[in-house]
Amino acid sequence: MPIFTPARRWQPPYYGFKREKPSRRALAATERVIKGALFGCRMCGNCLLQETAFICSMECPKGARNGPCGGSTSEHCYVDPTRPCIWYKIYERAEKLGRSEKLLEVLPPLDWDKVGTETWGDVWEQMRKVGVKKFFGGILSKETRHTAWESVFEPVRQPDWWQGDAVYHAPTYNEPISELERRLKAGEFVVTAEVAPPLTSATKKLCTNVNLVKPYVAAINFTDSPSATARMSSWACSIMALQNGAEPVMQIAARDRTRVGLQSEVLGATALGVKNILCLSGDNARMGPSPMSRLDVIDIDSIQMLWILRRMRDEGKYLDGREMKFPPKMFLGAAASPYASEPRFQAIREQKKVNAGAQFFQTNLVFDADRLDIWLNELAKRDVLDKVYILIGITPIKSLKMAKYMNNEVPGITIPDPLIKRLENAGDKVEEEGVQIALELIEKVKTKPGVNGIHLMAVGWEEIVPRIVREAGLLPVGFVEPPAMPKEPAKEKKLKLEPAAVPVVAPTVSTN
Ligand code: SF4
Repeated sequence: MPIFTPARRWQPPYYGFKREKPSRRALAATERVIKGALFGCRMCGNCLLQETAFICSMECPKGARNGPCGGSTSEHCYVDPTRPCIWYKIYERAEKLGRSEKLLEVLPPLDWDKVGTETWGDVWEQMRKVGVKKFFGGILSKETRHTAWESVFEPVRQPDWWQGDAVYHAPTYNEPISELERRLKAGEFVVTAEVAPPLTSATKKLCTNVNLVKPYVAAINFTDSPSATARMSSWACSIMALQNGAEPVMQIAARDRTRVGLQSEVLGATALGVKNILCLSGDNARMGPSPMSRLDVIDIDSIQMLWILRRMRDEGKYLDGREMKFPPKMFLGAAASPYASEPRFQAIREQKKVNAGAQFFQTNLVFDADRLDIWLNELAKRDVLDKVYILIGITPIKSLKMAKYMNNEVPGITIPDPLIKRLENAGDKVEEEGVQIALELIEKVKTKPGVNGIHLMAVGWEEIVPRIVREAGLLPVGFVEPPAMPKEPAKEKKLKLEPAAVPVVAPTVSTN
């Protein structure tokens, strides 16, 4: 190799040189000029413009290719407030053009081999396979237009290794996989609770909290580095929960996974006894501390995770098509965000998650029980309620500061003014007021059709979980009073909930 290699600077970092035919290169340049000018095309090489109302979804900083994250609003993107949420725009335009149902198709992750190259060549190849004359003959007639169009474009956007569609795929097993699933299937109104993973490698507090909460809940969630801030991994906490006789819900954020990492981690976790898995996109690295990690390492989104895992379980196949003799058994969950964007838009996203494989939802925090009805109605209209179990996110607010922080800063969470007023008036009894508000909310949501339980996110206040469950009248069937927990020899310093500590839990399900 010569000492000076100026030409190599055109090679993108970490990618090998790829020799494309001159004709393909010319086509790519043409596509870049035309689609770039018309649609802001980013040359992902895996074009989905027709499915996204002709708006390039590659503008989304979280790389979401299947709909908005839980932080989406009509005003701006929650990651980059200088621009609108591109998915909100896509939903709005799709609605105007009467193309909303197109948004239901589960779209594949990028084939990175194609990134930066053209899509038109693939379309032309497919047209030749179908027959150019047949294709154009087909699209000229109103009756055959859709079929002719899809005969070319469907195989291009849905390669053999993905085969995504817009229909519901019922699980192919009958016996419940986990205790959480068993209780839900039996019609119990269940409670799940979140226990915060430790910030260090010490596990004493984690085990204490697991044992404290265990008798009162069906399963315990462990977050996966919320706010893009490193903590003990969700799968390690899940294994420790199993060792302490509790059933975990292992949360996995797409943010830190490639498709290979996801599949191998899930195989490992299920082999060790984890049975409930919750798929999330995860908070963007911009939400995390400095120095910021790479923002463009995006391989899959939460809907693609569900699709991949459901197929592993029900079809016994890896994403690359390899068959599995002993597929993993798992009860699949997803986050849902009733107040993130317009409920009718959210419902499309939720339906897509259910179609992809979500069997239960744990929602973002709910403080307005009446508004929840709008979202539930939208799900009912989409015939989703009998296909997914819904657990409503509830938190006991511990301080006024925390309430204001969540209301103002955490996307997808709205606390009505009267509740803020109550907390203001509570003075030094704010914790008790927070508990009463949580109990009132539980009372209101538990009778709503379509609601199957609650998910308690106690923000580092796990000791309150037993009281809330007891006073809400939600002790599990067959509950046995646990022996009193041994007192700590030395009193631990009380955890002070400053706003900075809030994202530890609040965005856990907000950025789904
Ligand atoms: S709000 Fe979420 S979905 Fe919308 S553009 Fe930003 S990151 Fe993407």
